[in-house]
Amino acid sequence: MVNFSALDLLPSIKKAIAEKGYTKPTPIQEQSIPHLLKGKDLLGIAQTGTGKTAAFSLPLISRLGSKKTRPKSRNVRALILTPTRELASQIEENIQSYSKGLKLSSAVVFGGVAHAKQIKALNKGLDILIATPGRLLDLMDSGYIRYDELEVFILDEADRMLDMGFLNDVKKVIKQLPKKKQTLLFSATMPKGIIGLANSLLRDPVKVEVTPEKMTVEKIAQRIHLVKKKNKPNLLLHILSKEKNIKSVLIFTRTKRGANKALEYLEEAGIRSGVIHGNKSQNAREKALEGFRSGKFKILIATDIASRGIDVDHVSHVINYDLPEDPEVYVHRIGRTARAGREGVAISFCDQSELSLFTSVEKFIKKKLNVDEDQPYHTDRQTLEELFRPKPKKASQNNKRAQSRNRRPNNKKSSVRKKRLVNRKKQGKRR
Ligand code: AMP
Repeated sequence: MVNFSALDLLPSIKKAIAEKGYTKPTPIQEQSIPHLLKGKDLLGIAQTGTGKTAAFSLPLISRLGSKKTRPKSRNVRALILTPTRELASQIEENIQSYSKGLKLSSAVVFGGVAHAKQIKALNKGLDILIATPGRLLDLMDSGYIRYDELEVFILDEADRMLDMGFLNDVKKVIKQLPKKKQTLLFSATMPKGIIGLANSLLRDPVKVEVTPEKMTVEKIAQRIHLVKKKNKPNLLLHILSKEKNIKSVLIFTRTKRGANKALEYLEEAGIRSGVIHGNKSQNAREKALEGFRSGKFKILIATDIASRGIDVDHVSHVINYDLPEDPEVYVHRIGRTARAGREGVAISFCDQSELSLFTSVEKFIKKKLNVDEDQPYHTDRQTLEELFRPKPKKASQNNKRAQSRNRRPNNKKSSVRKKRLVNRKKQGKRR
């Protein structure tokens, strides 16, 4: 295995990563950095947690930092496109910490916040711009961004862009970039739409594929609790009070409403927590994330979209308060713990409506999950199945009426006859 010292990175970058405590490159860094330093295009099949941010940022900073050129107003030298605001902010934070000793300018642009600050940064010209597609297009359409000096384009989490419906926006951005540039595309999976995009975008790329999280989740102790839906809040409180070695806990719910409700239960029990989901303002999300990261509160409740890219090193436990619809999401969620080689615990709740999701997860990870019966709200599988089985419907009032009508088969006929008689009488009067 190579060491960082063997890589041709600027000395100030090496110093910065040593300060961050990185001793040796992760596999994706080891396999991609030497090629990227030579200016090659790259297709990286890797997800968050593998060290991919440093894999693309370190050679980028080295390349831009080793030249004396400074970007002209509204020009950007490198563009990093990523699907969520959280990821964009985290990439920028990483870049700033890796480029500490260098005079590189960087900024993030994403929606949900005012334009003014972003426009001000763009007006000065930027070495590195990190953006989500919607706001970037807005600013491009208004003429605030020029790509004449663009050297590097990085498309991060391409498959997530596809899932979130951003692919068309991404293509619109790409159309306006100069042909000559170094291009990197990262994606955790390679669905058809992304293969097509990679083929049209990359020139003779180096392909690096790192072990998917599915393999690395081996380090995570996983268990499941069978529980009636109504008992989930109590089970959560029970676990938070009884579980050993809890440092910080990321709780996933399926819906924003569910996230708010879980927060309410915890606050009522006097447990301070943060929450992030799509209805929270950017400011509130950042505050919650920062509070969690700094240890101000040890619990963060999140929905899946909002959780993309949550990069907090010390998550000791992930709790799936609800099981996800897509079993792949289960793997992404629990991968938030056991980051950068650590171990972690993943606890999932499964109520009567989630038994089929539980089966899908087991199928997907090709592993039987350990059902923990040693908790006060344990409900066996059969009872849950019975609870979920639809009960035979009670005859409604209308049905009852219909049934009684059917019991008197001549009823309809007699009422028709009555009507006819009345009509005839009326007609007779008129005549
Ligand atoms: P990423 O996949 O980019 O989200 O990175 C996952 C985590 O690994 C982040 O917390 C990084 O700070 C950390 N990390 C990245 N590279 C290294 C390294 N070479 N050694 C130790 N930790 C690293």
